[in-house]
Amino acid sequence: MFHAIAGARSSVWPGWAKSAFIGYDKLLTNPNGRFVQASVSKVCEGSNAQHEVEFSRVGADGTALAEERASFDFVVLATGSAQRGPTKPDVADSKSGVAAFEAIAAAVKDAGRITIAGGGAVGVELAFEIVKAYPKKEVTIVHSGDRLFSSRANNYFHPSLEEFAGEVKTRLEAEGVRLILGHRVEAEGGTQVVPGVLKGAASGAPLQLRLEDGSASAGKEGASASTDLLLNARGAVPMVGPATASDWAGLKEAASGSRGGIAITKEGFVARQTAGGAADAGVVPLSCRLFALGDCALLDGMTRTAYQAKEAAPMLIANIKAVATALAGEEPGSAARTSLAVPSGVRLQDLKVLEPHAMIPIGNKDGMGLFPGGSRPPAFLISFIKAKDLMTAWTAGDLKATSPALPAAPTGSYAVAEAGHAA
Ligand SMILES: Cc1cc2nc3c(=O)[nH]c(=O)nc-3n(C[C@H](O)[C@H](O)[C@H](O)COP(=O)(O)OP(=O)(O)OC[C@H]3O[C@@H](n4cnc5c(N)ncnc54)[C@H](O)[C@@H]3O)c2cc1C
Repeated sequence: MFHAIAGARSSVWPGWAKSAFIGYDKLLTNPNGRFVQASVSKVCEGSNAQHEVEFSRVGADGTALAEERASFDFVVLATGSAQRGPTKPDVADSKSGVAAFEAIAAAVKDAGRITIAGGGAVGVELAFEIVKAYPKKEVTIVHSGDRLFSSRANNYFHPSLEEFAGEVKTRLEAEGVRLILGHRVEAEGGTQVVPGVLKGAASGAPLQLRLEDGSASAGKEGASASTDLLLNARGAVPMVGPATASDWAGLKEAASGSRGGIAITKEGFVARQTAGGAADAGVVPLSCRLFALGDCALLDGMTRTAYQAKEAAPMLIANIKAVATALAGEEPGSAARTSLAVPSGVRLQDLKVLEPHAMIPIGNKDGMGLFPGGSRPPAFLISFIKAKDLMTAWTAGDLKATSPALPAAPTGSYAVAEAGHAA
């Protein structure tokens, strides 16, 4: 798996990416467990109270092999999100992933002026990684909202982020990052290094940019600018393909809302949508055997973070166990055993929705953070938890894999915490 939390540093620090691909092969030690490296094309309703999954295994050369189908008593959709940019290249295997990151890191190294489109947590992390690795580069963030971390659609802003966004802005500016807020940026022409990473069309030529007022309607004349490299950090896009490609209308509908993501109930079941927005839409499970969690799932208030998913996972597992136990108590072949409705009397847990939090590394020995309740952890804690190794050792531990070795820093300045900047 690609450990996405390391995406920004893997895009900047040559040689880092190979530490961010961690194998799943030791995870399922139970003899009934099985890990299959494959791409799931769709999940279907199936028959005999089992859901069907259609998938293609990944061949040794990274290509998709012939489609296969398998049936399961329970299915959890955890397909995550795409970033459409440097921090999560769309690749089939770790070898092509490392190659994509090395190409991005080489382009970052070559560029004198770098523009980042998007001032959410990922864009901000990228900017800090670049200025810490290469203090002489000119880095600009162009963000459509008028505050960092706000979303373009409605300039939505969780109140607890308000003050923190201002503090991060001040720190970025202190590190020499230029901020253009309230604007959108698009490249005019250019050559793609990988999708979401663009440089000038000819070798050494600048990339032309168009800057438009974030609120401007399409077609309004914008200002021109130029850069050497444009990095897309416009936000996570939930991966819902296996749901939208399904022949099962209920699952397709759960993933077709305008807000993106697969709608889930507060217990983690994929939610049934009802025509005309009836009162039970999003509240009633589509099937007691179908769940979704993580970045691909949509539940009011739930953020797309590993922290949130990790908090909710044990509750979702408890709910699967509760349903499985109840179904096992029903007569084999009975309507209650094969129904998609949640068995009556089952005690289910609600997934805990956490307040937004943030941990932003600034180099590998410094950082800023916002913890639930609004507290600001000290820089050494952000460094200890995240900045030093981007949590690769924790994730490797969770997957029962060996902690990856980390590469040497690209410049002497990177590893040095800047005195006086502790959050
Ligand atoms: C730069 C960066 C920094 C971050 N920092 C933090 C942080 O500090 N704290 C935090 O809590 N969160 C952080 N996040 C967010 C965090 O990485 C995500 O919330 C988390 O990875 C979501 O986990 P997931 O398992 O839902 O999805 P993902 O990590 O996206 O994993 C989904 C997996 O499913 C696979 N997949 C997708 N479609 C299919 C398919 N059809 N068939 C088979 N497999 C499929 C994908 O290839 C991927 O391996 C960060 C993200 C980025 C990009």
